[in-house]
Amino acid sequence: MTPLQRRIVDIIRRDGPISVETYMALCLGDPAHGYYMTRDPLGPGGDFTTSPEISQMFGEMIGVWIATAWGAMGAPPKFSLVELGPGRGALMADALRALRAAPDCLAAAHVELVEISPVLREKQRAALASAPAPVVWRDGVEQTADGPFILVANEFFDALPIRQCVRRDGETRERRIACDADGALIFADDGGAISETCPAGEDVTRSIAARLVKAPGAALIIDYGHAGDGEGDTLQAMRAHAFVDPLASPGECDITAHVNFGALLAIARAGGAATQGPVSQADYLRAMGIETRAAMLAKRADDRQKLALASALARLTDVKNARAMGALFKAIALRSPGLPPMPGFDR
Ligand code: SAH
Repeated sequence: MTPLQRRIVDIIRRDGPISVETYMALCLGDPAHGYYMTRDPLGPGGDFTTSPEISQMFGEMIGVWIATAWGAMGAPPKFSLVELGPGRGALMADALRALRAAPDCLAAAHVELVEISPVLREKQRAALASAPAPVVWRDGVEQTADGPFILVANEFFDALPIRQCVRRDGETRERRIACDADGALIFADDGGAISETCPAGEDVTRSIAARLVKAPGAALIIDYGHAGDGEGDTLQAMRAHAFVDPLASPGECDITAHVNFGALLAIARAGGAATQGPVSQADYLRAMGIETRAAMLAKRADDRQKLALASALARLTDVKNARAMGALFKAIALRSPGLPPMPGFDR
């Protein structure tokens, strides 16, 4: 039994079953035992690998997006470059390097990283130690500076706690987690149709939309998820790059859910923002020019590097099977009303 499981079992025995939302919040964010609070989960030796960890090209394409968005915002002399959940800082480091080709945009950028994990904050500090822009850390998006901003988030929204509801015999109740006599965690209300919402993700989206209405800005959100057409139960856990039971080792595996892009887009629009997407990650990266960039890098690469480039490009843009990143991962863009559409989306 993990230390966090012991705590959760105590809570359940004292107060009764806990919601999936409470469970996920404890697993990921508990100050003493939460998954993100205690470790660097990324990379081959960790539990999962993300796009910026696969190739520098991912962050570079986002750098190109940032420069274009900044131009579309009227090239403000100062703007906040916000990243939500920056992991090891690879995306931002690669984006800033690409922005050296747009020196006026780079000179205007003030980086603000929204991160809860003390371990990952240290990794980000190291990755961005010689960054060509000032960098500060924030606890939440609402703490970032007022004024023009560009926000990016890759695999951030999937890590926010979800609520699950179970509908059975015409009755809807919140899905909860109980424990058996041995302290094993079990779903209390199984059987029935499951639906999900992500209150924390909705709050962040509302807050972004409110900022987009007040000042010129744009936000790019990339994650795995769906357009919001009744997906059912998407709660999942990963450990050492394999799927595991989300109830089996709380605090020691990554627990996530697929992002409901349809819900986030509706909230952004209701808040006054203009929106684009979802498009597949493959379509987004191709529209940003990732194939041209890969060909350019291949020109000065040796044979081994050429193979690595081709395999990274394939991983980021492959759409052939259901779990391939190119199709399961999607991108949406939010922008201030009145700004022209952002690049990477066909409309
Ligand atoms: N964007 C990175 C990391 C993705 S993992 C990449 O693509 O590699 C999720 C990131 O979000 C981690 O940095 C994690 O610590 C952070 N995170 C999770 N929940 C958070 C929260 N509530 N507030 C701020 N950061 C959070």
